[in-house]
Amino acid sequence: MTTFAPLDMLRPANKDFLARPLGMIIDGVQVPAQSGKTFDVFDPGSGRQIARVAEGDAADVDLAVKAARRAFQDKAWSGMKAHARERLMHRLADLIEANADELAELESLDQGKPVGMARHVDVAGTIDYLRYMAGWPSKLEGSTIPVSVPYMPNRFFAYTTREAVGVVACIVPWNFPLMMAAWKVAPALATGCTVVLKPAEQTPLTAIRFGELVMEAGFPAGVVNVVPGFGAGAGAALARHPDVDKVTFTGSTEVGRLILQAAAGNLKKVTLELGGKSPAIICDDADLDIAIGGAAMAIFFNQGQVCTAGSRLLIHKRNFDKVVEGVSAIASGFKLGHGLDPETQLGPLVSREQIDRVCGYVKSGLADGARALSGGTMLERDGYFMQPTVLVDTRPGMKVVQEEIFGPVVVAMPFSDMDEVAALANSTEFGLGASIWTRDLNKMHALAPAIKAGTVWVNCHNVVDAAMPFGGFKQSGWGREHGKAGVELYTETKSVCISL
Ligand code: ADP
Repeated sequence: MTTFAPLDMLRPANKDFLARPLGMIIDGVQVPAQSGKTFDVFDPGSGRQIARVAEGDAADVDLAVKAARRAFQDKAWSGMKAHARERLMHRLADLIEANADELAELESLDQGKPVGMARHVDVAGTIDYLRYMAGWPSKLEGSTIPVSVPYMPNRFFAYTTREAVGVVACIVPWNFPLMMAAWKVAPALATGCTVVLKPAEQTPLTAIRFGELVMEAGFPAGVVNVVPGFGAGAGAALARHPDVDKVTFTGSTEVGRLILQAAAGNLKKVTLELGGKSPAIICDDADLDIAIGGAAMAIFFNQGQVCTAGSRLLIHKRNFDKVVEGVSAIASGFKLGHGLDPETQLGPLVSREQIDRVCGYVKSGLADGARALSGGTMLERDGYFMQPTVLVDTRPGMKVVQEEIFGPVVVAMPFSDMDEVAALANSTEFGLGASIWTRDLNKMHALAPAIKAGTVWVNCHNVVDAAMPFGGFKQSGWGREHGKAGVELYTETKSVCISL
């Protein structure tokens, strides 16, 4: 592997950005933490410190929530016509597009992913998401309701409206930092809510830049506030804050439970997009040329740090050897490297803590009798690199088969018939995604309804779109994001009933 000096080659705008004191954005102004504390941000491709960011805690969260509340009530935002809100959102999307290369570089440096992927998935996805959501303000309709009220003689006219839920706390993870922020902030803005965004402590940089671009676009002060900080500090303070109306969270199932408990105080609305252990099911009739590459990308995309990663490979026994050998060959062939190196195909894991966690899982799998056909260990070099890993000889009861690893590790198991594979697919506590690889429509239509998951892909995996509802069955979450279903969760329905 070549040595690489990423910081020297940064774009001038990013050099300037990283050299600045990076504050939180509260009420339209970038400010330090009340406590004066900061925390260090690291490049996972080298392990080196790259920035210092204001560390928000309960006092800063309180200020941000107050600013969001004031902005929510202010006529400048609450009285803004739908078309004007749409134009503002489009202006923000245009600004992100104008800064796309800088944002992609920053995301790659902070998160580790290849810069091309950051540009074409994370940043392009953010722009697309904002533009999709910018269409909604003028389309938030209610209905007229034919009310009978059998025990009253009056005639009534009744209708419903959809109103913004209020101040929304957006708590996001580190795997797609900018895009996850957009998934939450964009529908909030479309419906007229105001937000406090808390990026993950591992990856706060693009959220701060996003907050700056929101100000540049001309949103009223306080509509979007950004409070970087740790989960136990800023995150927990937001989840329990009595003046937050809704919390929308993407992250681990474990933290999802904590957020739910904290939200109980004022019964705030909660949307949770949590962990997964999504199966990729390869049927006996699948086109293996497509399925092998598809299954490899289903797990190794973003180094497996994807909540819908195809982390369980269920293969018809007739194809088992061919598929696991094919996926292992792909796993061993990836060029690992720093995200900013243009030759890199897979970057590092996000942090020391994460790679230790993933390696711990692999060790537990091997101790339980699994065998690694590829990868299995951390690489001896700076940064947090791990060769993609394929585990065989795995059984349903093993920890590596049941728990979310959130890294480049797939467990492979054979099946003999369709009933068996449906039961196997449903045999974890999660239900986020699943893919079926087949050319047989009958098999596809038998499996799709049998699988308990929020999204079932056929001959593809990890395909996500702003218009298509996304979320989890079982312990993978509450509610949906994207599309009409996602937008509606940022609103309250009001019935207005008139006696004529
Ligand atoms: P991971 O385990 O993958 O790092 P987490 O679920 O821990 O993901 O983190 C996702 C987001 O939740 C991050 O922004 C993190 O700071 C935040 N977070 C962690 N713990 C809490 C908590 N107790 N309350 C609120 N937010 C939290």
